[in-house]
Amino acid sequence: MNSYRWYNLDITLDKKGAARYTKASYPIRHGRFCEIKSPEHLFQFNLNGEIKYIRGLTPNWPHPAEWLKRTDANDWVFYSIAGYRMIFDSMGEYYLPCLPYASNSIWAYNPFVDSNIQNALAGWSQLQAQLRTRNTEGLSPKVKNFLALAARHDAGTLVAKSEKLHKIIGGHVSVLPPDTRHVDYEVIPLMIADGCLYHCSFCRIKSGQRFCPRSAHNVRQQIRELSTFYGANLKNYNAVFLGNHDALAAGDEHICRTAAEVYERFNFEKAHIKGPRLFLFGSVDSLLNAKNSLFEAINRTPFYTYINIGLESADSATLSRINKPLETRKIEAAFMKMIEVNRNYLNIEITANFLIGDQLSPDHYGSVIELIRGRLDHFYSKGGIYLSPLDTSRNNRDMLRTFFELKNLSRLPTFIYLIQRL
Ligand code: SF4
Repeated sequence: MNSYRWYNLDITLDKKGAARYTKASYPIRHGRFCEIKSPEHLFQFNLNGEIKYIRGLTPNWPHPAEWLKRTDANDWVFYSIAGYRMIFDSMGEYYLPCLPYASNSIWAYNPFVDSNIQNALAGWSQLQAQLRTRNTEGLSPKVKNFLALAARHDAGTLVAKSEKLHKIIGGHVSVLPPDTRHVDYEVIPLMIADGCLYHCSFCRIKSGQRFCPRSAHNVRQQIRELSTFYGANLKNYNAVFLGNHDALAAGDEHICRTAAEVYERFNFEKAHIKGPRLFLFGSVDSLLNAKNSLFEAINRTPFYTYINIGLESADSATLSRINKPLETRKIEAAFMKMIEVNRNYLNIEITANFLIGDQLSPDHYGSVIELIRGRLDHFYSKGGIYLSPLDTSRNNRDMLRTFFELKNLSRLPTFIYLIQRL
């Protein structure tokens, strides 16, 4: 780690963050990064010289442990510790990600109207101007290179980069699996299939496409282009999201071949962050149709794999109301299969989603309790339950109360699903 003074800025190169994802109630960085500290803000950059985090350093900043993070989709997310005890109990994390776009969050807090947050973003634009115009004579070539790299990645370039990412994978990621919270949503997206098996009416993230796996050629091309796209910063990733809404239905050959190829091509063995992770969505039918050979193959990959299944409800009236074309017996069978896979495969963790909302009936909640409590004889720490707020719900306070009632009864770790895009 090397530090330099340049005008009123402190520059530090080659900073080392944590080498494993760690949940902490204070700002913790992972992998390698560089930073520039002005009297008002701390700016942190990834290994491509792209701005990644901003934190205010003056007493006006909402809280010293809060920060802004820019995603690869070029969204600024504010990490709030507001009421952190409740956030931890409901999200499983110390921070509430406050999103700059509409989602299903049950917390109404909008930090982006706060002038201190706006100043932080403006501060980055001002820093950009300084990087482009100030004299760098006398600085070492290493510092000059970093400053030139950071100057090149201005707002316009970052927008173009996020568009390039979406072009490579063939579209936006409308929702990440809830389990990606374990890597702070820092995943490389890679599409192995498009569309989904059902077309549920409640769903705001569906593409409307019929399910169709991508060809091996297409997947390989994405891997090649993603490797170039992430460039030097690829070493700061250890996780891949295999998209899109039902990658499990693509089958073991597709999943495991892709897992092996990304592990090799992205050089995860030498990544700055250890413990490679694979995330995918599955559906009730893809889970029920999956043979043991599929789980054995996934279990043998170098990844710890999370598979998230949308169960939504085990109440037939609710299923027909949300237009999910499934019978309750299938939902129940999928739930029991999730428990069985989690017990039998060390490196696979299946999690499930159920709906929560102020227009859902007592029968719906009764059906959820029957599964997450009635079908289990004791508490299991593996295999989380995510309660996903319906975006038509209005009464957040009631929803939170219902959530805690379900969580207290549940014999599985239970959290709220906050939909995030990439
Ligand atoms: S909930 Fe899942 S299966 Fe239903 S429409 Fe949305 S993406 Fe498709």
